[in-house]
Amino acid sequence: MVSFEIVRGDITRFPAEAIVNAANRYLEHGGGVAYAIAKAAAGNAREYIRISKEAMREQLGKGSIEHGEVVVTPAMRLEKYGIRYVIHTVGPYCGGRWDENKKEKLRKAILGALRKADELGIRSVAFPAISAGIYGCPLEGVVRTFKEVVEGFSTEAMSVERVYLVLYSERDYRTAVETLGLG
Ligand code: ADP
Repeated sequence: MVSFEIVRGDITRFPAEAIVNAANRYLEHGGGVAYAIAKAAAGNAREYIRISKEAMREQLGKGSIEHGEVVVTPAMRLEKYGIRYVIHTVGPYCGGRWDENKKEKLRKAILGALRKADELGIRSVAFPAISAGIYGCPLEGVVRTFKEVVEGFSTEAMSVERVYLVLYSERDYRTAVETLGLG
């Protein structure tokens, strides 16, 4: 059984063996959580972008990723928190809209990262609220999708035991907790 927990915090220092990045298709890490992770990991976001793009070439043989595809990079400076890998995944762009199509893309993005974590033999994985920031998807829909995907993934998980959804702001944390009726 895989546990799913909602926590408030900063994912760049969250002690999970892998943290997931809400990346864009080109792994540019220009803003939001992606920039924060890149800067914290390499000390310099540009350097981590270079490392990410090189890893994408090596792992996927191309220069962009689709929903469901992921790229793994080393945690570098984040290792001091017990983080070993950063798994980059791409969620949907919503711009305030939410429908079955967006949800399916988010589902793929979450599942791709979970499967990669399992393949890496990792026990704990932390996610940010993918697509709920600059990409403008409603947090409630994102949180519900996370819960469903993690529950579904429980049946196939070999090594992953704990999945965390890390909300950066107190407000988002409260919304997430209320959405799942945990509050
Ligand atoms: P996207 O483009 O996929 O929407 P964003 O980076 O804009 O990605 O935002 C995704 C979520 O990550 C937002 O809810 C944002 O508040 C949150 N976030 C930003 N910085 C951090 C951080 N250091 N730790 C955890 N979550 C963060």
